[in-house]
Amino acid sequence: MRKDVRILLVGEPKVGKTSLIMSLVSEEFPDEVPLRAEEITIPADVTPERVPTHIVDYSEAEQTDEQLYQEISKANVICIVYAVNNKKSIEEVTSHWIPLINERTDKDSRVPLILVGNKSDLVEHSSMETILPIMNQYSEIETCVECSAKNLKNISELFYYAQKAVLHPTGPLYTPEEKEMKPSCIKALTRIFKLSDLDNDGILNDNELNFFQRTCFNIPLAPQALEDVKNVVRKNMSDGVKDNGLTLKGFLFLHTLFIQRGRHETTWTVLRRFGYDDDLELTQEYLFPLFKIPPDCTTELNHNAYLFLQSVFDKHDKDRDCALSTDELKDLFKVFPYMPWGPDVNNTVCTNEQGWITYQGYLSQWTLTTYLDVQRCLEYMGYLGYSIIQEQESQAAAITVTRNKRIDLQKKQTQRSVFHCNVLGARGSGKSSFLQAFLGRNLVHQKRIREDHKSYYAISTTYVYGQEKYLLLHELLPDFEFLSEADLACDIVCLVYDISNPRSFEYCAKVYKKYFIDSKTPCIIIAAKSDLHEARQYYTLSPLDFCRKHKLHPPQLFTCNTTEAPNKDIYTKLTTMAMYPHAKLRCMCTCNRCTFCICHNLLNTELVRSVKAKLYSAVLNRHMTQADLKNSTFWLQASVGATVFAVLGFAMYKALLKQR
Ligand code: GDP
Ligand code: MG
Repeated sequence: MRKDVRILLVGEPKVGKTSLIMSLVSEEFPDEVPLRAEEITIPADVTPERVPTHIVDYSEAEQTDEQLYQEISKANVICIVYAVNNKKSIEEVTSHWIPLINERTDKDSRVPLILVGNKSDLVEHSSMETILPIMNQYSEIETCVECSAKNLKNISELFYYAQKAVLHPTGPLYTPEEKEMKPSCIKALTRIFKLSDLDNDGILNDNELNFFQRTCFNIPLAPQALEDVKNVVRKNMSDGVKDNGLTLKGFLFLHTLFIQRGRHETTWTVLRRFGYDDDLELTQEYLFPLFKIPPDCTTELNHNAYLFLQSVFDKHDKDRDCALSTDELKDLFKVFPYMPWGPDVNNTVCTNEQGWITYQGYLSQWTLTTYLDVQRCLEYMGYLGYSIIQEQESQAAAITVTRNKRIDLQKKQTQRSVFHCNVLGARGSGKSSFLQAFLGRNLVHQKRIREDHKSYYAISTTYVYGQEKYLLLHELLPDFEFLSEADLACDIVCLVYDISNPRSFEYCAKVYKKYFIDSKTPCIIIAAKSDLHEARQYYTLSPLDFCRKHKLHPPQLFTCNTTEAPNKDIYTKLTTMAMYPHAKLRCMCTCNRCTFCICHNLLNTELVRSVKAKLYSAVLNRHMTQADLKNSTFWLQASVGATVFAVLGFAMYKALLKQR
């Protein structure tokens, strides 16, 4: 809404412009007035709409045409005053004043006009008969009013209408010629209807109407008022009320009615509450609330935001198959001005057999957006009406900024739930396949992915000590001469080589030596395509010796050429290493075979003996049996201070998810 309002009074001499202003200010009719009143400013707290209001007089005797034109261009609303007992002053309204003003304002942004018939105390009859045809002829005339400066009739009303014409303009909402709402207004109100229709059944039931009412006007509707509203709609149209709730058609009808009855402020209050500006665009302040991220911190969605996104998913998963079909996804994004997710998203997150994004995939994509581009996430949450429906200050309330990573490293524990893994490797070494395998796709499945639908990201969840964590894999372009700081900033690095290609390990060794040999970021070598025959690598050291020399885990054999979904253990391991990059402990178990020796260590700590951890010992045991089947030894990077205390919160979160 505007911060202030500037009202200009024009009209023939002696119609009473100056008197009107003086009467308003002094609340009595002045017998003598100057030719022109000084500009006055009415402070916000005494005006009905609580905005400072400037009132500007005009006098032909005192001002030049040039000064008049300047005032016209500065005004937010112009009152054309005539005297009801003076025919000529009425004629001048159309022959002189309206053309003069319109010549000086843009056709698309005409300043609203108010016709003011003064000196109503002097006549018995009203001038309305003459005025109404003029009103019909010029759509920029907002309203007309008859008043008297002498007996103070309709004076404050006149200035209130003027203020309203500026603050709640008709122009963007309605075309008086067609007696219809404008398309952009229908579009905005339709979006508002969809957001308020919490169960997405196309009807606002009593609960939803009450919620809507409370959100927009801070007061619930009394049950009788609710019925009255519906009755008004019922009387006027057959399909405005269905199953005792308001349909979109009924909702739009009500707003047309408000506007036609001069209650624009009702519609404007609704529009503004949902973030719209005077041009019916969502404001920048609404879409992009101020949000700062300190260095070395990452952004995640908090619990409340996940619950909200879950409800949005449920609302659109009409067939309850826990995945969004193309139509369901389209419907979900109808409240957006554009389709935010391209086909690449289907190859960034988990999908079902039909290739539709699953519930888990949907949350993953939101997690990814929040992590990589928090501004975009804020914008999207704005389109979904997060702050309104969740009754939050702004979308920023959906975001958690994690603790500085350096403090995490010092304390050897982290509360983060999203970990970022960069995947590097020579061309054709199997990076993309490594990403896709995380989404449960084997080689046969991957062959079906269209070139232009490929993604350089993959995100899904893994469980580390019973806690669900997101792992975000990012495939970098193989040109390692140009890796920037930003490219390298991550929690763990995978260097991928193709065991069947003798030239592919060299790339990993070079990248490692160039960027990671002194870096604190943990690295792991992936020996991809392990189903193929292993070739001897053309490099001074064998991959295994290279890893030994640099105290790295041994190359991790990996293949996605499987009949079922590829094995996911490696991703759990990556996440664990990303979470606990510090500890370079030797495996304390003596089996010499287990990949997951971290678990054994954990079992040996006091922490695990604590009561809380017992809750999860079942999970850990299962983990261990799987682990015992694995067959590589080595270093492990784990922190004994593994945080099990997050377990309880997590259990509650799961319980909530199960209620779905
Ligand atoms: P302006 O030239 O348009 O600013 O008109 P003024 O305010 O100077 O008023 C012109 C004359 O009309 C003055 O003599 C006022 O006293 C008189 N006048 C203004 N308003 C009214 C009104 O509402 N009723 C009557 N009877 N006289 C008015
Ligand atoms: Mg005057």
